[in-house]
Amino acid sequence: MLKVTQLHVRYGTSVTALTDVSLGVGEGEVVAVLGANGAGKSTLLRALSGTLPHHGGQVTRGSIEFEGRDLLGVSPRRIVRAGLIQSPEGRRIFKGLSVEENLRVAAAGAGIPTRHAATVRRTVWDLFPRLEQRREQSAGLLSGGEQQMLAIGRALMAQPRLLLLDEPSLGLAPQMVDSVGAIIEEIHRRGTSVLLVEQNAAMALAVSDRAVVLASGSVCATGPADHLAASDELRDLYLGGTPAPTLDGAPQ
Ligand code: ATP
Repeated sequence: MLKVTQLHVRYGTSVTALTDVSLGVGEGEVVAVLGANGAGKSTLLRALSGTLPHHGGQVTRGSIEFEGRDLLGVSPRRIVRAGLIQSPEGRRIFKGLSVEENLRVAAAGAGIPTRHAATVRRTVWDLFPRLEQRREQSAGLLSGGEQQMLAIGRALMAQPRLLLLDEPSLGLAPQMVDSVGAIIEEIHRRGTSVLLVEQNAAMALAVSDRAVVLASGSVCATGPADHLAASDELRDLYLGGTPAPTLDGAPQ
């Protein structure tokens, strides 16, 4: 479905953010992209959603294909229409609009006809009953977890073939992180493929089929999620494993 081949990305002339990154997402798969701060996760998503130029970045080599179509140079709007939809980090919802208005705007932005949008909205309410209860409420008054659900709901309004999730667990309490994991599994169960970008490796590996680990802009490991979850070396080096002991033996 998605095929990224030997992708190189630079910002300006001096920053190389991705080097030789290759990965794929098959139909019906959940694939996680893991990595610490600065590993290149957001850069990868920007390349996929066509927004790199807005951040001063450019693809200098490699290719991105979605369902057989070359995406390089394609506008973000056309990429959305092709079914590659991102739910951005930081929950960029419209806080001054109601919950329902946020969903309406998302559908209009993706070119979903008004009559059809009501049907799609029903599926979002089914997935997030708490949002339906708060449909009239200003989105800015939702809790952090509810705002994250709304951000995912907005992306679903565009009827993704492949949903790109940018750190959906960021800043959430552990219980909410579990809820986000359960929602991803449910979205997958309903037939949408997912590329999940996360720092929370435990949650991401628990809900993914496969994972790719980025370090300093390159792929340092890839494989079935359960294999990566069981790798002590990966956990300690790249995935935020057990903290190193201090000299007196207590964790740092
Ligand atoms: P985080 O989890 O902190 O968001 P990340 O894995 O998403 O990190 P990126 O934001 O993709 O990492 O950053 C990868 C590299 O590119 C870093 O060295 C970063 O400083 C650099 N970078 C990111 N955005 C820009 C930009 N707009 N201009 C210049 N350099 C950038």
